[in-house]
Amino acid sequence: MVTNEQRTPRLMVIGLDGASFDVMGEWLDAGLLPNLGSIFGEGAHGVLRSTIPPVTPAAWTTFMTGKNPGKHGIFTFEGRKPGHYEQRLTCGGMRRSCTIWDIMNEHGLSVGVVNVPYTYPPDPVKGYMISGMDAPAFDRRVFHPASLYEEVLSQIGRYTLARLPRRGERYDVAELRQQIDKMGGAAKFLLERHPVDVFAVVFTPTDHVSHHFLSSKTASQGAEGIEDLVEWTYRRVDAHVGELLRFAGPETTVIVMSDHGMGTIERGVNLNRGFADGGLLKFHGGSGERESVRGDSCAVARGLLTMLSRTVRRRISSQMLRRLAQSRLPIHKVHWWMSSGGIKWEDTVCYTMATQGLVRLNVRGRDPNGIVEPGPCFEATRRSVADFLLGLRDPKTGRPLIEKVHFREDIYHGPWVDDGPDLIATESDDAPWGILPGLMGAKAPLLVSRPEAERRVVDLPEGWHRPNGIFMARGPGIARRVTGSWHIADIAPTALHLLGLPVPDDMDGAIMEGVLSEEARQRKIARDPGERKSKREAASFYSEDEEQSVRDQLSGLGYLD
Ligand SMILES: [Zn+2]
Repeated sequence: MVTNEQRTPRLMVIGLDGASFDVMGEWLDAGLLPNLGSIFGEGAHGVLRSTIPPVTPAAWTTFMTGKNPGKHGIFTFEGRKPGHYEQRLTCGGMRRSCTIWDIMNEHGLSVGVVNVPYTYPPDPVKGYMISGMDAPAFDRRVFHPASLYEEVLSQIGRYTLARLPRRGERYDVAELRQQIDKMGGAAKFLLERHPVDVFAVVFTPTDHVSHHFLSSKTASQGAEGIEDLVEWTYRRVDAHVGELLRFAGPETTVIVMSDHGMGTIERGVNLNRGFADGGLLKFHGGSGERESVRGDSCAVARGLLTMLSRTVRRRISSQMLRRLAQSRLPIHKVHWWMSSGGIKWEDTVCYTMATQGLVRLNVRGRDPNGIVEPGPCFEATRRSVADFLLGLRDPKTGRPLIEKVHFREDIYHGPWVDDGPDLIATESDDAPWGILPGLMGAKAPLLVSRPEAERRVVDLPEGWHRPNGIFMARGPGIARRVTGSWHIADIAPTALHLLGLPVPDDMDGAIMEGVLSEEARQRKIARDPGERKSKREAASFYSEDEEQSVRDQLSGLGYLD
């Protein structure tokens, strides 16, 4: 392990997963978060726009690489398994790009990276790395160097990296408190014992607690006296931020950031139900009564899509939605990764994948039972599916359920684009609904209300990811009292520039000039034209046991089913 005499890092990044000014703004104003508030008030702050969609794996990987998912290969919680409909769970090992940690190491700076999501297995950095929420367990596997495991275990004890209550389970506040305290305690211990040039730590409870309690505020055992569990969590994390800031000397630049924001939702959008109602997808078991679409694929797709005339769309989006919303059919959750789910693939034109509006067409030659011909037919079908999505409406208000549909090449570019979705549907930032994961079930309606969700045992979190995350910074190189709006890909080049290191040309983000002090802005920006490969020889994936263990954790957040 690299150790040096320097007691304070030159750069400290504190991540608060899912933190949003929409959630924490009033507590900052009221002085309830004094440590975060001091950075907010003194330095630069503003909104940090997330990846599209705003999901943890893609967003933190974009933070670490400065690149879009087409270049780093991590799009969401699940990734493509070529030749299968079943998907494999994403882990940090699937990242295909070098990181800022690699670049800092190359220039002789040591790094300490703790609990950053999507860093399993840990990279062999100079310094140390302890994996974040994609870690399958708390053991030697998640530590680099592995010897650090015993040290942290003996000093801090076992702390869960991402233990979460499942829906219906109550959050044990004592356990939550312990989790936050041990995360903070481990960070403090490492800063004290193993000083590094660049230190990064992420607190994940800000995200997890918001998922469960953003609107109800408290529903937990041991929560006596806590009126708002989300506020309590932010305050507890703020206290640990205060402890960590004691290790920030006059030479330390501090960045506080989140990977995405958070907002309340009242309903969930079940896109595959919408596709089934529109004749674009068929479930096994006869829940859709339409004719089979088997046959010549392009003719089939064209035939199907003639149903999507404006009139028909309006009919689907009002009458049928109303009927579905009122229906009382029981919901059977369909786990599509087991036995190819409830979808009848040979009759399906398009379907949604894991989280938040990622849609794939069922393409002949690419997908096992693909029916859409590649080429012009694919393009025509894709445009029609986009129109269909944009035509879906809230039956009560007529408001569009989907605000935008992106074609993948509009937002992703790079060698791994093919691993991504064909279309990305997004809700508006303030919509009272969120697009739920893929196959919630053949019989769940398109728009699931909270009472329905509870009756039918569908996971409908209270808080849902939103695109606007947070950014705050202070210290050397940072302007005083400025505000702005940036993108999460901008952090990597900015961090390198603040450290006086060259910025690789293949990063997509830009240096956040508005954040920089006059002196840092004047400094010549060094460019590095070389492209770097990741240090790993090849992508690595979970073993079956590891995958199951992480799947269990993520299900608790409503990300997967
Ligand atoms: Zn997150």
